[in-house]
Amino acid sequence: MTAPREARQGSMLALVKAAPGPGLELREVPRPQMGINDVLIRVHKTGICGTDLHIESWDAWAARTIVPPLVVGHEFVGDVVEVGSNVNDFRPGDLVSGEGHVVCGRCRHCLAGRRHLCANTIGLGVGRDGAFAELIALPMANVWHHWPGIDEEVAAIFDPFGNAVHTALAFPVLGEDVLVSGAGPIGLMATAVVRHAGARLVVVSEPNPLRREIAARMGATVVIDPRERDLKDVQRELGMVEGFDVALEMSGSPAALRLAIANMAHGGGIAILGIPTQEISLDVNEIVFKMLTLRGIYGREMYETWYKMTVMLQSGLDITPAITHRFSFREYRAAFAAARTGGAGKVILDWTA
Ligand code: NAD
Ligand code: ZN
Repeated sequence: MTAPREARQGSMLALVKAAPGPGLELREVPRPQMGINDVLIRVHKTGICGTDLHIESWDAWAARTIVPPLVVGHEFVGDVVEVGSNVNDFRPGDLVSGEGHVVCGRCRHCLAGRRHLCANTIGLGVGRDGAFAELIALPMANVWHHWPGIDEEVAAIFDPFGNAVHTALAFPVLGEDVLVSGAGPIGLMATAVVRHAGARLVVVSEPNPLRREIAARMGATVVIDPRERDLKDVQRELGMVEGFDVALEMSGSPAALRLAIANMAHGGGIAILGIPTQEISLDVNEIVFKMLTLRGIYGREMYETWYKMTVMLQSGLDITPAITHRFSFREYRAAFAAARTGGAGKVILDWTA
């Protein structure tokens, strides 16, 4: 058994990838070092992301990307406990989350204010110590103030919620017909976002029945199992004439991307967030003659996406149905198992329990 938080001096508990290979360890590590521009945050709640599962299982991507020892995790909410001498805008007690991409600040795009396009991005819990810990230190430029009264579970998942919002708003959706492929936590949140942003029809394609059921509750007009329903039939039933105006590819599946391309209206836009594990061959003729725009999405816009998340929540957007499981951080094994089964939406770890 590990000592309670108050009993530890100069150390903290963290979930660590200690050495190359599968698994994670809950262990005591030194408290994070603080620079003059940093904010030290006590972590309240964290969300488990697919990235954390890759690192835990030590797949080929993790093996070539991660240098142990590393504190994993990047989705979190917490309160400020200490600020560096150069920090003015944050005070102890402020409720905050962190942008998981730490950018260089010096490249062409950073200097132009397009920080989400930085070519030197370092991922929290990937390229530097992350948030599955009692404390995290982050540069002040990566810290986001929440408004008082926000639901802490929602605040904990602002990072993937931001992926959903950035993708969902990549093309105008007001009055448009939208296809969402993949109703993992991000596809689920994107479904609610395009509905909130005024889409006409929202069709969600997802093989997993539990996730289809949640998608229906989050605003999908129709949910389909792509193995069983033909999208052209679905279009006919809905009275659609020319195809989808916008598609959000949130599965990483080659079949899903091909299906989206085959069902787009002329001039349509496909925002691609899903990360395929292999190369995908596409019928480029269809992209050309339908005059489609394919747009890759990585991360969130700093900080326009964060602003949009905040104001949409304040104007009634509800993403809570996407959160299905909660665990104490000490039960991380059960939490990771739940996240891995597909029988869950978003899984939250509580670091105060
Ligand atoms: P997830 O793996 O939980 O969800 C993917 C869903 O796609 C699953 O529910 C799966 O059943 C479904 N799916 C599989 N094959 C399908 C098919 N042929 N048609 C329709 N759906 C299908 O992932 P998530 O956490 O919701 O993330 C979504 C995707 O975005 C993942 O690929 C993830 O790696 C990626 N991602 C990208 C970024 C980025 O910045 N680009 C950030 C986070 C996650
Ligand atoms: Zn940069």
